[in-house]
Amino acid sequence: MSYSIAIDGPAGAGKSTIARRIAKEMKFVYVDTGAMYRAMALYFIKNGIRPEDGEKISEKCRNADITICHVDGEQVVLLDGENVNERIRTEEVGNMASVSSVNPEVRKKLVELQQRLARRVDVVMDGRDIGTCVLPDADVKIYLTASSAVRAKRRYEELRAKGVECDLKKIEQDIIERDERDMNRELSPLRQAEDAVLVDSSDMTIEEVAEKIIGLCDWK
Ligand code: C5P
Repeated sequence: MSYSIAIDGPAGAGKSTIARRIAKEMKFVYVDTGAMYRAMALYFIKNGIRPEDGEKISEKCRNADITICHVDGEQVVLLDGENVNERIRTEEVGNMASVSSVNPEVRKKLVELQQRLARRVDVVMDGRDIGTCVLPDADVKIYLTASSAVRAKRRYEELRAKGVECDLKKIEQDIIERDERDMNRELSPLRQAEDAVLVDSSDMTIEEVAEKIIGLCDWK
């Protein structure tokens, strides 16, 4: 049986940084499910499909060819065979992902892909519905959060470090809007699973958070 660690939480809580670090330390495979919703969103943008066009989204998502592979421990998302890891990291794609991920057909397709991966190998998987829906029997479940101000500041600094001009207030506003949508959608809303451990990283370092989560794993 493969071992699985599920990490859920709102945008900018540090899920991917933490999950990547834990995966490296425990020699697990890191699965970033947000990247899959982003790749799907990029597909819609490329095909001129608008966020409000639910019917087109349901129909077209079936044709999107999204696959995942791992190169030197890094997840690579392929859209129609092309590595889109860089292209999916824009605010435009993130916002489209947040809108199109409410679609049941989109979720069904990507959840199946995620479950297939977790059956094969030991995983640290992060997202919004991993503990509640994708891997309800995960060995360890974490709900990782931080205040919206701290999350906005982290994203701001990340973007600035890449040389991207941005506005802190606007980023916080986007984060609050995205939380609102992710937490209040009908299908698989973002919420803490009953058996998940709540970790608030507002005043914690990456090392402290990773150490705490690894300490909860009885894997050897
Ligand atoms: O985590 P990330 O910001 O890359 O995710 C982009 C969007 O994809 C989220 O805002 C959310 O709407 C959606 N998502 C989801 N379920 C997941 C992962 C991401 O609905 N498991």
